[in-house]
Amino acid sequence: MSVRVVVLGGGVGGLVAASELKARVKGAASVTMIDRKKFFEFPPSFPWLVMGDRRPEQVRRALTPLNEKGIRVLHAEIEGVDLDGKHVRTSRESLPYDYLVIALGAEYAPETIPGYSEHAHHMYDLESALQLKEAVAAFHGGKVVVGVARLLFKCPTAPYEMALLLDDRFRRLGIREKVCIDFFTPEGAPLPAAGPENGRKVVEMLEERGIVYQSKRKLKSIASGSLSFEEGNPLAFDLLVCVPPHRAPGPMVEAGLADASGWIPVDARTLETGHPGVFAVGDTTSLPTPHGYTPFLSKAGVFAHGQAEVVAHNLAVRITGRGHDKAWDGHGACFLEVSREKSAYMSGNFLAAPRPQLTFRTAGAIYHTQKVLFEKYWMRHWF
Ligand SMILES: Cc1cc2nc3c(=O)[nH]c(=O)nc-3n(C[C@H](O)[C@H](O)[C@H](O)COP(=O)(O)OP(=O)(O)OC[C@H]3O[C@@H](n4cnc5c(N)ncnc54)[C@H](O)[C@@H]3O)c2cc1C
Repeated sequence: MSVRVVVLGGGVGGLVAASELKARVKGAASVTMIDRKKFFEFPPSFPWLVMGDRRPEQVRRALTPLNEKGIRVLHAEIEGVDLDGKHVRTSRESLPYDYLVIALGAEYAPETIPGYSEHAHHMYDLESALQLKEAVAAFHGGKVVVGVARLLFKCPTAPYEMALLLDDRFRRLGIREKVCIDFFTPEGAPLPAAGPENGRKVVEMLEERGIVYQSKRKLKSIASGSLSFEEGNPLAFDLLVCVPPHRAPGPMVEAGLADASGWIPVDARTLETGHPGVFAVGDTTSLPTPHGYTPFLSKAGVFAHGQAEVVAHNLAVRITGRGHDKAWDGHGACFLEVSREKSAYMSGNFLAAPRPQLTFRTAGAIYHTQKVLFEKYWMRHWF
């Protein structure tokens, strides 16, 4: 009987892990990938969806063609994991595994902020991005507030990108002078994992465009047209775009996989959890940083991708007995779209000590083009 590998999640990390592993092990292992969604959706394109520059079908792909590559795609709700019995429980069947790769991302917890569900918009899933698109299209002047409800959240650049893209949209429509844009966050500075210098550059970009930046503001509750914070004055809004609170997926917490951070601790080099043969990649993990800027690595697709490649490679080495193990090295890159034509870009080693080794490229058309190519790669390569 061949080795059984079960991959939980068909998002960025799960798709890469399942695809890379199957391509390497071929018949030596069965690979099953489980997701509640029938489609892979590409979150870096969601801000373009909000701005009306993409349609939903341009930023999602059906997962079923992966069956043709020898990956069994199971469309089901993952309900639990029995780590001792090595079984995954789903809404459709129970699956035994020899190796488990957890790539379930983060859940949102809007109910933990009073008033969030009634009054806030966000672009953190495709349906919500489409609702925000409608709200933005109907907005012709007033006060926009963009913000972050809680740390940690995925893609630390995304809310900043949204504020900058809204600014750009209102300028193009000729209504910028009728709009005030404020930004609030509990962070001390933007992109804390990238260090204070890069954070300052983001604040400069906001301030150059007249976006008022407020740091260290912890959201308490939301009422119609008004935000309350743990400290300081309330903030009025006509349109609110707020990153929802995140938490680790419930079934993984119930299985005892999360630690005091609320997320799944893993070895930074191998992504193995404390349970032998059980790996976790991407947003669902907590990965301590060796520098003091922020206790844990940010949550980003580029990390999920790199980590999934390492897990797939090392599992293939274990299963086939060929090759040598690899270690994940903390490298990553991200775009920060500032307008319809331009993007800034940052890349390097986010886990370097004593501080991250990153290069920040100021906004240019070339990085916007690179982001478009990045999207095209994702939409074609894996399907
Ligand atoms: C607006 C936005 C812009 C972004 N831009 C960038 C960017 O430019 N660059 C970048 O690197 N990152 C970006 N990100 C972050 C990136 O999308 C995530 O970090 C990445 O998707 C994480 O991959 P993952 O595999 O950990 O989780 P995900 O990709 O979220 O995949 C998790 C999968 O698990 C499934 N799932 C969860 N629970 C269950 C369950 N119980 N049963 C069945 N299925 C389940 C979900 O349906 C989902 O498909 C962005 C995110 C957002 C929201």
